[in-house]
Amino acid sequence: MTTIAFIGLGNMGGPMAANLVKADHEVIGFDLSPASCDQARADGVTVVGSALDAVRNADVVITMLPAGTHVLSVWSTIIPIVKDDVLLIDCSTVDVDSARKAHALARERNLLSLDAPVSGGVGGAKGATLTFMAGGSEAAFERAKPFLSHMGKRIVHCGEAGAGQAAKICNNMILGISMIGVAEAFVLGEKLGLSHQALFDVASTSSGQCWSLTTYCPVPGPVPTSPANNNYQPGFAAALMLKDLKLAQDAALDTGAVTPLGAEAAQLYALFNGDGHGGEDFSAIINFLRGRTA
Ligand code: NAD
Repeated sequence: MTTIAFIGLGNMGGPMAANLVKADHEVIGFDLSPASCDQARADGVTVVGSALDAVRNADVVITMLPAGTHVLSVWSTIIPIVKDDVLLIDCSTVDVDSARKAHALARERNLLSLDAPVSGGVGGAKGATLTFMAGGSEAAFERAKPFLSHMGKRIVHCGEAGAGQAAKICNNMILGISMIGVAEAFVLGEKLGLSHQALFDVASTSSGQCWSLTTYCPVPGPVPTSPANNNYQPGFAAALMLKDLKLAQDAALDTGAVTPLGAEAAQLYALFNGDGHGGEDFSAIINFLRGRTA
């Protein structure tokens, strides 16, 4: 049994911490939200009153927080007091620059650290089927793997510090762009009198095939499990897609990468969110393209 501190027990962190409890680890948790703390307590997490109390005796510290500012604030608070042989893992989705700064804080004390953002959403967090994209040293990755495997089914070492976040925002830029492309095709098909099923049957077995079509089809019918069949309940909320597309655009500006479609996707999701649809699944962008949100 390992003592694991888990900071950030929200929609993702809560069920991830619960899976570590199920794997017989001692999990000491902290969150600013009383509701998140109550749920974690019910899931078997020992909830304490501060991040410092959570990490004091921990062998592993995991953070799952909204953004880079939260991660840097928590890591700079806890690093001075953690044990010398602790392993620090941040699973939040944050900008690459903040991820590298967090690693640098850990290096000042010679601690092993990993950025390990996830894909798979709340369903993946509950079912322990997340994909982890990890950045950091081989030693940190090898030590983290057994713990990550209790929360996910695929764990990829993407490279050195920040590489996990880099992989995450590149992947989600593909996802945002491809969902808009699939949605545009269905809207055009509707105008041309083509049934959803006919377009799906052709494109899903042709060169238009992609995850946004075959797993997350934005119209109801062809893929019964896609959020379109459930009134676009997330799933993966449009607000989180916008967050990730903005992170990709920030990184593109920083590095000089040319990402015109990523920029356009960020703009479209900003308009969609601005219209009050941030809580809907990101595949609901098809309704925006149909002009229903104007
Ligand atoms: P959430 O808002 O439900 O949870 C974040 C939690 O962090 C909240 O409970 C909040 O109270 C807590 N928190 C904030 N500052 C804190 C602090 N200083 N100390 C302790 N707790 C603090 O968000 P979420 O959906 O769980 O997402 C967490 C991270 O995972 C985000 O970076 C998000 O982009 C990423 N992510 C989310 C999903 C998803 O589908 N929800 C999927 C992949 C990645």
